[in-house]
Amino acid sequence: MNNHLDKKHYSIIDRIFKNDCIPHAILFEVDDCEKIFSFIKQIVKLILCKDKNKNLSTIDCGKCNICSLIDLNNYPDLVVIKSDGNWIKKSQLVDLKEEFNNKSLLDNKMIYIINEAEKLNVSSSNSLLKFLEEPEEDIIAILLTTNRYLLLDTILSRCQIFCLKDFDYEIDNESLDRVECLIEYFIKQKNLFVDYKYLLDNIFVDKNTTSKLLSDVSKYFLCYLNNINSEALKDSKIYNNLNKVKIDQIILYIKIIESEVQKLEYNVNFKIWLDGFFVKIIGDVYD
Ligand SMILES: [Zn+2]
Repeated sequence: MNNHLDKKHYSIIDRIFKNDCIPHAILFEVDDCEKIFSFIKQIVKLILCKDKNKNLSTIDCGKCNICSLIDLNNYPDLVVIKSDGNWIKKSQLVDLKEEFNNKSLLDNKMIYIINEAEKLNVSSSNSLLKFLEEPEEDIIAILLTTNRYLLLDTILSRCQIFCLKDFDYEIDNESLDRVECLIEYFIKQKNLFVDYKYLLDNIFVDKNTTSKLLSDVSKYFLCYLNNINSEALKDSKIYNNLNKVKIDQIILYIKIIESEVQKLEYNVNFKIWLDGFFVKIIGDVYD
């Protein structure tokens, strides 16, 4: 089970456990919430296992009751919250709070994991926030997300954040041209409606192209925010010009793109959707 822990994982473990002061809320930004889960379990074990001889490099004491209960997903004070497919609901957070109201019977820390935290909706986000705002000594929150920018800033500010994403920005030149063309509109705050016809013919050709294009734009922004200077982006003028745009603005673009692309996946009329998208991007600029 330890085999797939690499240097990056160990350095995270190091940072979490240094000074014996475990943060109340930890957020992992990852490519795939399912794939990271065994690593998260190791962290949970490190927090809960009481084996005096355990050390950070072997992680799993491999013999105590606590560790085996965690392995069997049977540890009573460990709650994993997942979405119903679409959302994580407020009632799930309310139930959790109820459950964690009582002290641990095992006289140990209590841990909840929020899987795919980007699926928190407005009301469940607010419930979680209330929980995080009044941290209890013995309760630890672990959040997993594929995109931290989809969470409330107020939630992020209460978490210690670890990014485990692989930012390999693989993109062919033709797509890169389109991505950069669109980003240029954002940077220069040009009105998208002025060039509507051109954009429709060349950039937003159809639903699939658009969805792919916008997720590439989002990736491009994320590379920038995480200081990734990949081969493809190193010499890009636009990429190097992004420092003229405020970070908050870039984050806002990512948020708009993520939520609009989701809408696009439902069976909406593409042209109506596109108008709405433009309005969001422009409205935001001129607000
Ligand atoms: Zn143990």
